[in-house]
Amino acid sequence: MPSPVTSGVFEEGRYTTAILETNRGCPFSCGFCFWGAATNDKVHKFEDRRVRDDITWISKNNFVSIFIADASWGMAPRDVELTRHLVKCSEENGYPVMVAMAAAKNKPDRMAEITEIPGPRRCSGLMRCVWWARSLGAGCQTSTTSDDLSGL
Ligand code: SF4
Repeated sequence: MPSPVTSGVFEEGRYTTAILETNRGCPFSCGFCFWGAATNDKVHKFEDRRVRDDITWISKNNFVSIFIADASWGMAPRDVELTRHLVKCSEENGYPVMVAMAAAKNKPDRMAEITEIPGPRRCSGLMRCVWWARSLGAGCQTSTTSDDLSGL
């Protein structure tokens, strides 16, 4: 199935905010959320080329912000390189200037690496990353029943 982003569904230069999914599903089964259970803990990733092309199109068409709708950004190793691509596009085209995402809860080192990618631009306002950090408190940990990331 072609991406609606790059297949002409959206008018060029008309929108300000994009919602981008690079994968679907969640490998966890948190007690307070049905996402993981609803997808049987499976994660299906869109191809790298497709995601990169989506990001490039969004950037070239002056979207001010991107909300990455993945369950856990940083869960997959490729998220580091996709973040680099996103930052490079922002640098070249001036957009997006804001990216929001839900950070992977069990990949603190990878998330730290991703956070560093925008570099000084985080302070200049060219790109700001917003994170929803999940609590690592004992009560939250016991509500997570699956940590199988072997499919990533
Ligand atoms: S990791 Fe997030 S999306 Fe997945 S089941 Fe837990 S709360 Fe839901």
